[in-house]
Amino acid sequence: MVLKNKVAIVTGAGSGIGRAVAERFAREGAALTIADIDEAAGANAANAINAQGGRAYFHRADTSDPASARDAVAATVARFGTVNILVNNAAAFVFGKVEDVTPEDWQRVFGVNVIGYANMVRECLPELRKNGGGSIVNVASISAFIAQPAFVPYNTSKAAVAQLTRCLAMDLAADNIRVNGVCPGAIHTSATDNYIASLGLDPEQACADLGKDALLKRLGKPEEIAAGVLFLASDDSSFMTGANIVMDGGASID
Ligand code: NAD
Repeated sequence: MVLKNKVAIVTGAGSGIGRAVAERFAREGAALTIADIDEAAGANAANAINAQGGRAYFHRADTSDPASARDAVAATVARFGTVNILVNNAAAFVFGKVEDVTPEDWQRVFGVNVIGYANMVRECLPELRKNGGGSIVNVASISAFIAQPAFVPYNTSKAAVAQLTRCLAMDLAADNIRVNGVCPGAIHTSATDNYIASLGLDPEQACADLGKDALLKRLGKPEEIAAGVLFLASDDSSFMTGANIVMDGGASID
């Protein structure tokens, strides 16, 4: 129970990696808010955690909207008393070559993936400072530092997330607020399934092919990333800030 008496907010916790993080945090004793734009998925995730004896609250939030981010934090404080941990995980998956991407697409991908993360940090700061510190974990991606064909907007936004983590770590260290990131490789979530479907590929074959990029020859599981997020969120990583941990089955070493 490494998160006993801690209060966490996990954005995008209605599905995939965020949901696995929320479930793991609940098992480790945290009370948590699931902040997701998808009402059905978010409520479902919270209900599942509460049915297992956890303490989860679903709050519908669009993290790219400053007012909505503020409401999500205020609702968490009203319900659980404070915030100790923020996990920024919600993402817009906008892919393409530069000529395929509209200005609106660019606004959306940066609005959710970068500005949305900053919105949540800004709104959590007063509580984290009041508590004498806290932990922020930003979910980036190996797409932050590798180029992939026709992935311009998404990869550019994820590189910005990795840099957001370093810059925040520098500015917030004096407040004892640690800021770290995880960089997953290909993980089997609905985002991966949607990407495969958008290419019209056979799901099973495409998952096997994507998995071949990893030295471990498979896709990662959301729970495997949740383990890294838990480490960074907890006091087990007390001497870490500004780090981006790669969790990719070895996909990006060559
Ligand atoms: P997912 O689609 O399963 O989950 C993303 C969740 O974010 C959804 O529940 C969605 O409703 C929510 N969301 C989207 N926009 C939102 C907004 N504006 N406000 C609040 N919630 C919003 O995706 P996933 O694969 O679990 O991805 C989670 C994180 O992991 C993302 O940051 C993604 O970039 C990163 N990541 C994923 C992979 C992968 O292979 N799946 C690899 C590397 C990094």
